[in-house]
Parts: sequence; C-alpha cells; structure tokens
Amino acid sequence: MNAAKRREIFERLRAANPEPTTELEYNSPFELLVAVTLSAQATDVGVNKATRRLFPVANTPQAILDLGLDGLKECIRTIGLYNAKAENIMKACRMLVELHGGEVPRDRKALEALPGVGRKTANVVLNTAFGEPTIAVDTHIYRVANRTGLAPGKTVLEVEKKLLKFTPKEFLRDAHHWLILHGRYVCRARRPNCGQCVIRDLCEYKDKTEA
Ligand code: SF4
Repeated sequence: MNAAKRREIFERLRAANPEPTTELEYNSPFELLVAVTLSAQATDVGVNKATRRLFPVANTPQAILDLGLDGLKECIRTIGLYNAKAENIMKACRMLVELHGGEVPRDRKALEALPGVGRKTANVVLNTAFGEPTIAVDTHIYRVANRTGLAPGKTVLEVEKKLLKFTPKEFLRDAHHWLILHGRYVCRARRPNCGQCVIRDLCEYKDKTEA
C-alpha cells in the first residue's frame, strides 16, 4: 500500500469520527490502567459494569490496597479470570505506592514491570491516558491492518512496528482508536461489513463482502 492511500484511509476514518476514544470508562490514568488490566478476554461493556462498582469505592492504588483482595474480588467477580486479575491488581497497586508515589508512571519500562501489564496494556495507557503516539495492536487492529494492507504482518509486534513507521504523524495519536473501532463495528472478524465501509475503495482485501 502506498503512502497516499494510507493517508486517505486515516483522513476518512478521522472525518467519520474526529475525536475517537476508548469505550472503557475511566477518569484517571490509574482507572484506565485497572480497566485495561481487567479487559483481557472480557468485553468493554463487562469491564465497565465491574468498574462502576469498583471505582466509587476505590479508585487509587492506596484505596484498592485498603479495600483488600477479597473486597476487590467482590467488585470484579463478574469478569473472567477475576481471581488472577485481582491478585495482579493488588500487586501492581503495591508497586505503584512503593515505587511511584501512588501515580501511574508515564514510562513503558515502568508500566511493563507491573504485574499483569504487558506491552499492549502499556501502549493503551501511554496513548490514551498520556497522549503518546503509541499503537496497541489487539485482535481488531491486527485484522484490519492485515486485511486492508495498511500494515501487514505475521505478529502483533510486526504490525505495531509497521503502523508506527507508516502512519502519518498527524494521525498517530488517534490511529489506535480508529482502527479498533473500525475492526469492532465494520471490519468484523467473521463477516466484514464492506458494503458500509468508508474505506472500501482503498482497502486491498481480496474477499470483500457485497452487503
Ligand atoms: S472493505 Fe471490508 S475488508 Fe476492507 S476495511 Fe472495509 S470492511 Fe474491512
């Protein structure tokens, strides 16, 4: 795919949704960190239901430590893998309090050192909470990047590196959201909605659907 096409794709996605953001509900970097940690193998809707119970009770590392493991589990028990997630969140809260003054660090290495936080979660936090031009490649972005030809790659890391390299600077900060939302609602896994797709003529996918 050439540079002009890439630019046009992002221009159209921006025109359709000028201020994209995550569908996870949060009001601070810490709330976002917790929400993203909970979102592994869970839907955003499910995570929001749990955090609506949790955040009014505890929305800082110290408050979650004070709530205790059982209290935390009680709030998030509707989410898959909640036992392991609760334990990771408790450990992460302890590290945030002891090493970072109770704040979420704006630093990839420090983020990835937290239990339960991998490259993808760190990217989401850096991008969405701090406005850094990172792209967290999840299953939706991986699919859209490969189908369209925007950034084909065999691994999520390869796709991430290509997207960072080839996405025009002005779109980098929001590219993550545009591509996720496009993958979630239009370029769906089982049956992409090519008939309603605003980038259909630019997309290089060979098996486009008609409807
Ligand atoms: S045309 Fe189809 S395959 Fe291409 S991006 Fe749009 S929905 Fe996805």
